[in-house]
Amino acid sequence: MRHQLHRYFHKRLNHLWVKPVGYDTGIKIYNCVAKEKVPLVVRNKDCSSWYTCGPTVYDSSHIGHASCYVKLDILQRLLRDYFKINLVTVMNITDIDDKIINKSIQTKTPISEITQHYEKEFWEDVESLDLMKPDLVLRVTEHIPMIEDFVLELLNKGAAFKDEDGSIVFNIKEYGKLQNVSKANTGPAYPNFTLWKASKDNETNWNIKYPNGRPGWHTECSALASSVFGSTLDFHAGGDDLRFPHHENEEAQCCAYFSKSQWVNYWVHTGHLMQKSTKMSKSLQNTMSIRTMLKSCDSNTFRMMCLMSHYRKNMEFTPEFVNSGEKHLENYRNFLTYCKSVIDGKLNICINGDVLTKLLINSKEEIHKALCDDFDTAYCVKVLNNLINVTYKMINASRENLNRDLQGMLSLINVTNFVKHTVSVFGFDLDQTSVVKEESKDFDQLINILTEFRQNIRLAGLEKKNENLLQLCDGVRNNLNRIGIIVKDHKDKSIWYK
Ligand SMILES: [Zn+2]
Repeated sequence: MRHQLHRYFHKRLNHLWVKPVGYDTGIKIYNCVAKEKVPLVVRNKDCSSWYTCGPTVYDSSHIGHASCYVKLDILQRLLRDYFKINLVTVMNITDIDDKIINKSIQTKTPISEITQHYEKEFWEDVESLDLMKPDLVLRVTEHIPMIEDFVLELLNKGAAFKDEDGSIVFNIKEYGKLQNVSKANTGPAYPNFTLWKASKDNETNWNIKYPNGRPGWHTECSALASSVFGSTLDFHAGGDDLRFPHHENEEAQCCAYFSKSQWVNYWVHTGHLMQKSTKMSKSLQNTMSIRTMLKSCDSNTFRMMCLMSHYRKNMEFTPEFVNSGEKHLENYRNFLTYCKSVIDGKLNICINGDVLTKLLINSKEEIHKALCDDFDTAYCVKVLNNLINVTYKMINASRENLNRDLQGMLSLINVTNFVKHTVSVFGFDLDQTSVVKEESKDFDQLINILTEFRQNIRLAGLEKKNENLLQLCDGVRNNLNRIGIIVKDHKDKSIWYK
């Protein structure tokens, strides 16, 4: 592959990231090899490769995994639906691993029973989190010959050697590309790692060509990803804890296998999910399963929280943050239904269409800039909030007209379409959590009568400056709100929507 002359040197260990040749997306993305934001260039806009490290199926996925998968799902949707890059996404299922074997021994359960159970659970979680499924799923057990070939080729090339127990071990020559690793550190952070593990007694042998053994975790991913995508990947993704040593080892193997210096062009790593400033992980036993979490925090709220924290940053899972995510979603939902009721003619408003259109154009530009700046979705949320708040203010400040102001209406339609489109690109389904789905005419008429009655009481309260009457009106509004009916007072008229 030809490379441009522009090279990014990492001075300390002299690793370099080479900018690919292809389609420049206009995005600047953080690159852990270059250690800075670099231009995102995909080799082919119509067929870009994305590999995500999938789950090791020996236990339930926890919400730390959920935050990683939702954040990656948001990036994939943005690349596909906003930047119009045709991604081909692949994920592996690690169904051969020490952890699985240990669980099988401890629980006296066959390996296949464990892996099938937890894989099924994983796909149910994927569905309940509204994640896009990968285009291709690769189970390790179904691709053993391919992985064996990969390992034997590394052995033939002299990049690996046979250990005393028959294991095949990768011979690390250069290290620390994805993360700074001191050369003096010869401890566990800088080990030769096993490509093919010799089996112990009573262990299932997965080998077909090479005797007695099974692949190591790093090798599973390298062999599977390169079997599909070949000698170069546009994106390779996972949680930040996979960056080292897992991804470091994957890159080292594939560079040796293909005799090149760069296998993955863009490593994408998501921040951790934290609880009281501590990383959530199985080893720390402070995890919560995805299904437990979804009982108190729906998938849209969790997605909102992921959107509000940058994909690379750690995210705190606190009741306050859950509440903030809920409030934001409620704000979007209320805004869209309120605008719809105005557009449907429940309220004739007069707003300055030119001013609103200018605000919309500015907001679009701001959001585009933010997305091009390493997918700064947190800033996009702020821009959307501002657009919604200013639109509300303009509607509230307008007097009611006898004639419909179609010019103003047009700009309001544009704003609502933009908000709707943007939230759908982020992967939200705002209709899903609407509390009231009752479409009965009688029900609507009843609420009409109640709202009109309340409106008259409120106007009388305002005229007589009677606080008691106004408080009663607030109480009715709050009660209706609780069952999903939003009542909005607009000068001398009150309207409702659901
Ligand atoms: Zn992997």
